[in-house]
Amino acid sequence: MDHPLAPETVAVTAGRPPLEPDAPLNAPLTPASTYVAGGSMEYGRYGNPTWEAFEEVLGRLEAGRALTFASGLAAVSAIVDLIAPGEKIVVPRHAYLGVLTIMAEREQRGLLNVARVDVEDTEQVVAACDDAAIVWLESPTNPMLEVADIETIAAAGHEAGARVVVDNTFATPLVQRPLELGADIVLHSATKYLAGHSDAVLGAVVSRDDDVHTALDERRRTLGSVPGVLESWLAARGVRTLHLRLERSQANAAELAHRLEAHDATEKVRYPGFGSMIAIEVRGGAAAADLLTRSTSLWVHATSLGGVESTWERRRRWASEPETVPENLIRMSVGVENVDDLWRDLEAALGGLSG
Ligand code: PLP
Repeated sequence: MDHPLAPETVAVTAGRPPLEPDAPLNAPLTPASTYVAGGSMEYGRYGNPTWEAFEEVLGRLEAGRALTFASGLAAVSAIVDLIAPGEKIVVPRHAYLGVLTIMAEREQRGLLNVARVDVEDTEQVVAACDDAAIVWLESPTNPMLEVADIETIAAAGHEAGARVVVDNTFATPLVQRPLELGADIVLHSATKYLAGHSDAVLGAVVSRDDDVHTALDERRRTLGSVPGVLESWLAARGVRTLHLRLERSQANAAELAHRLEAHDATEKVRYPGFGSMIAIEVRGGAAAADLLTRSTSLWVHATSLGGVESTWERRRRWASEPETVPENLIRMSVGVENVDDLWRDLEAALGGLSG
């Protein structure tokens, strides 16, 4: 076909085996630790057809070449390994706490020179780009939902000679394609929206530069941080419905953000206007927030996000969450349930706080 396929069609059709009589329509689960010698795979740590099926879909969705890892954090470590000891990395003040921990540990060991910035303050980020080897963005950020001006920052990063990395976990390639905005590397916790069913842990990077792709592939082989075959298969299956899940969860999130803003029990509602994540700050501090997360039946108190089911948690229950994240902030991952059922459950719990 001449016309480029829309992302929804890519999500459904990319990464299939050739359409031949009796071939499986979708890539089957192929557990293999070794392959008959002489081909491109050779060994289970070097390649796997099930990994490749998911990598093909994700690469097409992000308009680059994807490589999958054992987890999002395994992918983060591989990227950070690309820079030489002591080089500078610009990092968001607020980001997923595991990412912040990786940066802080390496900083303490003298391996990284870390400059922390507020990603919403474009001028501050641009000013910090000087001498940086990597400019790391997360947009929207976890859990504060701050949004970065990726295009402006990518241009400034390149001018300074840095590589620009964007964690696109919260937005997904259906909402934002950072490589098209000038970023060099996209990171995903595929554990979240891409797999989408809270049943797999998986990470991915996507890039356009062959040298970056090869270097990350080498890191994956060397570190042994390869994806599980079952997890890759679950993600390849899950991503087929990404557009449908996102359509519903975004509509639910927009509606719930609106209703939450009007509710007396909330002090602040953070919703960037896209995506399915909301963060609320509730009246009554940490104790009220803790009580709230235990008072619902549909909203499940659980970490992680991006599944079909609605979950929430008070982020400061984690000791390593930055102290600038308010104590009473609850991060909400809005699922695909009926929005009125979700609201009734929330409203009853919020009413219990003030009553
Ligand atoms: N990036 C973001 C934005 C995340 O939310 C997470 C996990 O919550 C990660 C990276 C790390 O991914 P994983 O848990 O798959 O290692």
